[in-house]
Amino acid sequence: MVRFTVLASGSKGNSTVVSGGHTRILVDAGLSCRELFRRMNLAGEDPQTLDAIVITHEHQDHVNGVAVTARKLGIPVYFTEATHRAWMRWLSPRRQMTYRQWLEMCHKQAAERQAEAESVEETDSADDPEEDLVEDADLSSPANLPETVAELAADEASDRQASPKDDPTWLPAVEYFRPGEPFSIGDIDVQPFTIPHDAADPVGFVFASEGVRMGFATDLGYVAPNVREQLRNLDLLLLESNHDLEMLRDGPYPWSVKQRVLSRVGHLSNDAASQFLAEDYDGQAAYIILGHLSENNNLPELARVAAERALTGRASLLANRLLLAEQHQPLSAIRF
Ligand SMILES: [Zn+2]
Ligand SMILES: [Zn+2]
Repeated sequence: MVRFTVLASGSKGNSTVVSGGHTRILVDAGLSCRELFRRMNLAGEDPQTLDAIVITHEHQDHVNGVAVTARKLGIPVYFTEATHRAWMRWLSPRRQMTYRQWLEMCHKQAAERQAEAESVEETDSADDPEEDLVEDADLSSPANLPETVAELAADEASDRQASPKDDPTWLPAVEYFRPGEPFSIGDIDVQPFTIPHDAADPVGFVFASEGVRMGFATDLGYVAPNVREQLRNLDLLLLESNHDLEMLRDGPYPWSVKQRVLSRVGHLSNDAASQFLAEDYDGQAAYIILGHLSENNNLPELARVAAERALTGRASLLANRLLLAEQHQPLSAIRF
């Protein structure tokens, strides 16, 4: 049986379970592991049966619980390589130096400065090399060590005990995919495609299993031609309907954030989603789920009305069932 269960959708966390045949995958893990498991249980999905996690992009609302969940279940995480790197960068602030490394660096710099000064003396004897050497204090003397040395030494001690699992980016297994290149996870075929969004290498997906095709397109600034192309012949479509333009314009966000949301690599408005439904969508899906609704700049009713208006404009689309994904509770599983 094929099932599609949205556990959460919105800027505070996104996650969906896609099941087909004997395979179950988690698309994004934007909530804590504990909350993901709680919601899966609520929605009748057993977390222990998950086979893999697939990530759309590295924004926090899509990856928050990925490491803990993957470790707890011992399952692989599928990323594009650029998304994986961006995620690792996000988790690894610049590493502090150990005391020993710092001391070595100081000595090396002192030696370099001295060598430089000596070469200046050789080539230009008119210059007083003493000037260049004044700075070369004795760095090995305790009086000259910074106060943070104790912290650095403690770091060094913790370094010695480090195991792979102390690394926040450690995962049981990482699999790379590329946008535009289909792959399979067990009984589910996955077609990743590029979406316009301000992340390293963001993607949407079409999942197919047992002849059922499910499209996944949230976090996109506009419906680009390749996205339109992908969202055809679907049985289910999860489409972003992020904000109402007026609410965003008059809302609380600073102007720079408003600009970002509105941009071609931001988020899809109710109007843009309904324009796609009215003009470019083929009407094949039995279910349309509106997702990633902003809590500050949208109202579920506004999103629903905009989409309904688009669908009723075309008699052939009336058979489409319209649902709204929620931020704070899972949607009942859609079964095929
Ligand atoms: Zn998002
Ligand atoms: Zn995003």
